[in-house]
Amino acid sequence: MNVLCKHCKAKHFESEKVDKKGLSFNDCCSHGAVVLDAAPDFPQELSSLFDGTHANSNDFFDNIRYYNNSLSFASFNANLVNFQQRRPGPYCFKIHGQIYYQINTALYPCLNESPAYGQLFFVDQEEALHVRLSQNPHLRQETLTTLDRIIRENNIFAQSYAMMKQEINEQRSRMNVEEKLELQLLFTLKPGNDRRRFNFQRTNEVATIFSTTADGEIPESYVTIRNKNRKVLQYVSTMDPNVEPWIYPLFYPYGSRGWHRNLERIKVNDNDSSRRVTRMAYTKYKMAIRQDEFNSILLGRRLFQQWVVDSYVKIEKDRIQWCKDHQRELKADTYQGLHDYLQNSANDINGEVGKTVILPSTFLGSPRHMQQSYQDAMSLVGKTGKPDIFLTMTCNPRWKEIQENLLPGQQACDRPDIVARVFHL
Ligand SMILES: [Zn+2]
Repeated sequence: MNVLCKHCKAKHFESEKVDKKGLSFNDCCSHGAVVLDAAPDFPQELSSLFDGTHANSNDFFDNIRYYNNSLSFASFNANLVNFQQRRPGPYCFKIHGQIYYQINTALYPCLNESPAYGQLFFVDQEEALHVRLSQNPHLRQETLTTLDRIIRENNIFAQSYAMMKQEINEQRSRMNVEEKLELQLLFTLKPGNDRRRFNFQRTNEVATIFSTTADGEIPESYVTIRNKNRKVLQYVSTMDPNVEPWIYPLFYPYGSRGWHRNLERIKVNDNDSSRRVTRMAYTKYKMAIRQDEFNSILLGRRLFQQWVVDSYVKIEKDRIQWCKDHQRELKADTYQGLHDYLQNSANDINGEVGKTVILPSTFLGSPRHMQQSYQDAMSLVGKTGKPDIFLTMTCNPRWKEIQENLLPGQQACDRPDIVARVFHL
């Protein structure tokens, strides 16, 4: 990998060059259209855990998903397929069905429950450590303490919970009574909430503390944490810019925003009509390999696998959503025959037809895509006769190109990105 993109300096293989584009590539920065802010320098201790120079790095990598999970602010929910008990071999992160994220909007745990996720940054460090260790006894106390300290010191969301705690303590001492105060911690206010209109107690870049005692009006935010102990799990939208830092605090130790729909593209030529950076372009940019750049995501091993799967599912979800919203352009009306048939069948059994969504043949894996591929294959057979050999090819993790590009201590399974790229060379 010695060809550098002329825009973003991402490393490429010679044969990844695009026709007539010279040293400009699509799969790193979309030919210069995507420029994201450089990630701030990682806290030194965390970067040493990631680059393998820390004494506890091995344990950190073996359990990185558990460490990450125990520090996250929202939960990552999916049906995981567990291969480890079924077969030997490399680690493989696989899920079934959908992924969804939830956040508990209560500041305190319910009776008889331990604090979890964001609540752990509201209680003090020792209690948080105790809870995390009791839930994950195989994790190292020392590493957990270090990580918790790093997040508390640097992460804007952890600081928001601390800010809430401070406010509650101060109000208590001001009022001198143990009365229940209605306070809300608001993450990402919805547009149109003028700050002057509301009684905001404290505020930082991502969160605002609001007291409901002042007037009737309540500002709207995407996620609101209340100082109550009635557990309410709220689904977090994949569009929320806080989702990535909430789920991957180890990749975003400062809590900086992940992908969001207002990321703007740079206009590279007059034909370029798209204005926004898509999630796909963002993910590609993050996954590009750049010289001398510390990229925790590529160093994340098992957590990287999770992040890749997670990002893919989100991209696919966006695409399905697009197809849903653009049925007219996709000429879905022409499938009226299908709709009539369904309606008739439904009438026979006294059922109802839901809203049908047609996935076009350009949507990989859709029935129409399969159908079209099948037709193509059949017309090939029609022209050239039946095939004599059915050839499949698998990737060898020991290929020189893969081995050369792994980072110190990594195995091929830690870098699905390199394996896939080398396979397509
Ligand atoms: Zn580039």
